[in-house]
Amino acid sequence: MSLEFRPTRVFYEPSALDYPLGKSLVEQFRSQGVPIKPTSSHNRITGIPGDTPAAQYGEAKRTLVIGVRRSEKFQSCKPSAHYQLPLVTSCPGMCEYCYLATTLGKKPYIRVYVNLEEILDIAAKLIEERLPEITQFEGAATSDPVPVERYTGSLKRAIEFFGRETNGRFRFVTKYTDIQSLLDAKHEGHTRFRFSLNCDEVVEKYEHGTPAPEQRIIAAGKVLKADYPLGFIIAPIFRFPGWQEAYQKLMERSAEELVKRAPSGWSAQQLSLEFISHRFTARAKTNILDIFPKSSLPMNEEERKFKYGQFGYGKYLYQPEEMIEMKEFFLEQVKNYFPLAQVEYFV
Ligand code: SF4
Repeated sequence: MSLEFRPTRVFYEPSALDYPLGKSLVEQFRSQGVPIKPTSSHNRITGIPGDTPAAQYGEAKRTLVIGVRRSEKFQSCKPSAHYQLPLVTSCPGMCEYCYLATTLGKKPYIRVYVNLEEILDIAAKLIEERLPEITQFEGAATSDPVPVERYTGSLKRAIEFFGRETNGRFRFVTKYTDIQSLLDAKHEGHTRFRFSLNCDEVVEKYEHGTPAPEQRIIAAGKVLKADYPLGFIIAPIFRFPGWQEAYQKLMERSAEELVKRAPSGWSAQQLSLEFISHRFTARAKTNILDIFPKSSLPMNEEERKFKYGQFGYGKYLYQPEEMIEMKEFFLEQVKNYFPLAQVEYFV
């Protein structure tokens, strides 16, 4: 099955036609015969078909909305950056555990914003406000931005914008491997390109429509060869019979590929690692079970530790002793396979 994203329907805000990217996207989809309709707002899309929440979800993941982002403000984005950089919302992947299940709800249609210059102007102002500090922006806080890149080219333009900014840094994360167009971007080392990885057992069971871990590891090798600062996010980490062996295999294979692809002079200190254990909110659980009624995701509240969280959403985490065991295990793996890498956090 091809993982290339091809929308089955497209909506556009009429004001998107005032921007060259909006105009060319609308023309492109029209000429390809994709059904395309105007909509008054990218935030209120009606007309996504489907009789059940599962069917509507599947259709939403094949629906593209071309919009203009009007807010002058960017959300904050702790702990990975100072601000979100809003280029895209949602993605065509269908991971049962998607971290967007809490915020995007049951119809996470994909939105791209065509007023990129205005968005980057806001980023430039925010960078200026924090001078002489460096300001970090996260490009994947509400999306996986890579699957729509073949249409918009926005990620590459953002990477090159940050390449020119002395005091701005960019980072994003993806599970997708269609990254060829980004390899020759003039990044100047200002963009951290991260891959979200998990072991085969987890990906096969809970992810749908995403590339296999092996393909992501190979793509990470290419990114490293293109001299980008590279990172891995191992997430979400699950406990299941044999979890240690499964994750050890993943770490071993990733290290092997990096050693093979590293450009001369590369120091493993430039590699960043983030670890996120599985967690869920009550709202995400309800949404997930509506969309994937047969999901075997471990979401039994009684087995978890409840923690009050940001934005009013409490989360169910693994028990403290389980978290300690997982953290120790992963730090041991880092010592064995990536002894020089920077571990940003384990949560
Ligand atoms: Fe969510 Fe990322 Fe999976 Fe897309 S690839 S569904 S953003 S977890």
